[in-house]
Amino acid sequence: MASPPDPADGIVGRGFAPGGLQRVACVLCGGTDLRRTVRLRERWLLTCGECGVRLTDTYAEGAPVADYYSDVQAHHGKLGDSLAQSEGALRAIARDQADEMEGLCGPRRFGRFLEVGCSRGHLLQEMAARGWDVSGIEVSRTSAAAAGSIGGVHCGTPEDAPFTAGSFDRVGMFDVLAHLPDPRRTLEATVRLMAPGASLVLSTVNEDWRLVPLFLRAFKVAPERTAHLRDEMYEGQHYCYFSASNIGRLLESVGLTVHEIRPLEPLSTRFFVHQYSPRRRLMLLGMVQMDRLLRSSRKMLVLAKKPGRAF
Ligand SMILES: [Zn+2]
Repeated sequence: MASPPDPADGIVGRGFAPGGLQRVACVLCGGTDLRRTVRLRERWLLTCGECGVRLTDTYAEGAPVADYYSDVQAHHGKLGDSLAQSEGALRAIARDQADEMEGLCGPRRFGRFLEVGCSRGHLLQEMAARGWDVSGIEVSRTSAAAAGSIGGVHCGTPEDAPFTAGSFDRVGMFDVLAHLPDPRRTLEATVRLMAPGASLVLSTVNEDWRLVPLFLRAFKVAPERTAHLRDEMYEGQHYCYFSASNIGRLLESVGLTVHEIRPLEPLSTRFFVHQYSPRRRLMLLGMVQMDRLLRSSRKMLVLAKKPGRAF
């Protein structure tokens, strides 16, 4: 099978994260005033009337989620079908993530590092090479098996991970939050594994991005013409969308202190842009230039710490 002609096709081609359960309350504030905002392909995007978090109207828990991610192969569907083809990009993404953590937390080269959602272990490998003792948690059986040879990898979730409480000095959670059926529960379990003073670095989409209102309007007015863009923006694997203005509330609710939230350029423009048509490429790069000027981005990088003294 040929690789997808456009990353957006890859996103549709890999299918959508399972549904089945109906969202009745907000994952952040518990509010039940969930308003229909945009019709997606198989579900609705809702907005919490109380705190502004965006959610899909259906989601799944447990086995269906593990089965789905065990079957989905390429990274976000954007790297084509061949794993070998994507290897270089995945290594570059991992180096970038390790650098971002050093930029936020300092260049420490020892201690215990945990990655929640470690996929096939590229970041674990990078952190191990930088001197860290590494462990990972990964819900996909295929990815966890591939990562298995690097450090201790638990196939499952932080909720059922067998690691010792309070044992990790640094935790990375890149592009995981939006995929979680219950972000607060998973974060609580993650915080239990962190040592006092330990850092959590996470990346996720930022629903406060300056173009979100404009795009939402376009998706409503011209749903057919904007379908591709909508698929990419509210791609079918996400269950929830936080923003720079409400992620602090989530992290503080699990006992963390937020130290920094900064804009992060999306992976698409840094690693996948060559796969888009020339017109889309130009549009994406133009958008990124504007974001740089305005210090705004569709994604954000967050540093939060567990109270206490690091050793
Ligand atoms: Zn809410």
